[in-house]
Amino acid sequence: MEKQEYERFRDSIGTVTSEGKRSWVYPKKPEGILYKYRKWVSYILLIILVVSPFIKIKGNQFLMFNVLERRFNLFGNIFWPQDFYLFVLMMLIGVVFIVLFTVAFGRIFCGWICPQTIFMEMVFRRIEYWIEGDRGKQIRLDKQEWNAEKIRKKGLKWFIFFIISFLIANVFLAYLIGSDRLLLYIKDGPLAHISTLISLLIFTGVFYFVFAWFREQVCIIACPYGRLQGVLLDNKSIVVAYDHKRGEKEKGRAKFKKKEDREASGKGDCIDCFQCVQVCPTGIDIRNGTQLECVNCTACIDACNKMMDAVDLPRGLIRYASEENIEKKKKFRFTPRIKGYAAVLFILVSVLSGMLFLRSEVEANILRLPGQLYEHKENNIISNVYTYKLINKTSKDFEEVQFKLLSHNGDINTVKGHTILVPANGLAEGTLFIKINRAALEEEKDKLKIAIYSGDRLIETTGTTFLGPRSYK
Ligand code: SF4
Ligand code: SF4
Repeated sequence: MEKQEYERFRDSIGTVTSEGKRSWVYPKKPEGILYKYRKWVSYILLIILVVSPFIKIKGNQFLMFNVLERRFNLFGNIFWPQDFYLFVLMMLIGVVFIVLFTVAFGRIFCGWICPQTIFMEMVFRRIEYWIEGDRGKQIRLDKQEWNAEKIRKKGLKWFIFFIISFLIANVFLAYLIGSDRLLLYIKDGPLAHISTLISLLIFTGVFYFVFAWFREQVCIIACPYGRLQGVLLDNKSIVVAYDHKRGEKEKGRAKFKKKEDREASGKGDCIDCFQCVQVCPTGIDIRNGTQLECVNCTACIDACNKMMDAVDLPRGLIRYASEENIEKKKKFRFTPRIKGYAAVLFILVSVLSGMLFLRSEVEANILRLPGQLYEHKENNIISNVYTYKLINKTSKDFEEVQFKLLSHNGDINTVKGHTILVPANGLAEGTLFIKINRAALEEEKDKLKIAIYSGDRLIETTGTTFLGPRSYK
């Protein structure tokens, strides 16, 4: 079917020319109440992002994602690879939460919370405004010859961008390898840890590339969440939307003329000033309707409200609203879809809370040595050999750790013959023997229950199997 003219904007991306080249976006500096709120939200989030790897709770880093050593800290709690199922559950909760939020409130996460938008719009873009000036001055500077002014401004901007990218890369590394190790490496000097320095420079290069050049393309092309938007939104989702009923009316949008009776003229309230387009960091015209590129940053709401004030028309021509609200004046309501996602989220959070509550301080694994059968000893004793692994998930040492057999009468002896120390956030492993009188054995392969004590305190119970000769009863 032939596409309508007004639908043509969907055939291309505003930031790519018809020849396939990059069309650079020069957004006008936003101003207004929503931008002010966004600034405050971004200050708080930036502080949290930067200080989180340097905060310690009970000696543990507040947040750490050490993928290389497979150690993760969440809110000061250490998670080991053995806790992977908890991580998967947390990821699932994160995904369902974002889906629920998107169904109800569109891509609000992108405009207000996403680190990419916060760094781009609230750090790098503001430095650009400070050095090169607002939209018009930036366009002029880019068009002009490379003279002293352009070299000075561009050089200063790129240098500051590099320094900030380097700082972000350091924070990123603090999340990855831990802040203690990062500070130690800084103290030792960069040349003492060449491989880390190379990683740091690669991260710096990636951040510099993203914020100095790739910019809004991350949200438009690279981010999978942006792509998901199309299937998550419906006509009841609240998004940044242009009220086309009010903006167009019977005669459509038109420039504002002094002293005209806009109401009587039949023209829409949109005065076609293009302020909403010029301020948009993804280079789109929100008047075309909800688009994949819109990150819900609200800059166009502020810009349009300012124009409405100037021509004495009511604010809110662009506002947070659903299609249903604009078309039928219907208010926000909880749809079955939202209720369904909320129920799934509630179930997942309940399961996770239960699992976290039941999570033991020590993880114990006692496994029979592969390929080993039982051994006959004196006085009718059968012996099996095992390896043990004890993981301490807390920040305190467990001293004088010993094993006791709960299910059978028998002895457990470690090879070294003394009690074990399981260090804080560490592990202890070794070999042990379990000896049971053959008369106490029920089957060829008995199930054993073993308690692990630190001094007199029971810290974990675990199970294993014990091999013996065929039925003795
Ligand atoms: S259309 Fe408006 S809300 Fe969407 S990205 Fe552009 S300025 Fe931000
Ligand atoms: S800022 Fe408002 S009035 Fe101006 S073009 Fe955009 S929608 Fe129309």
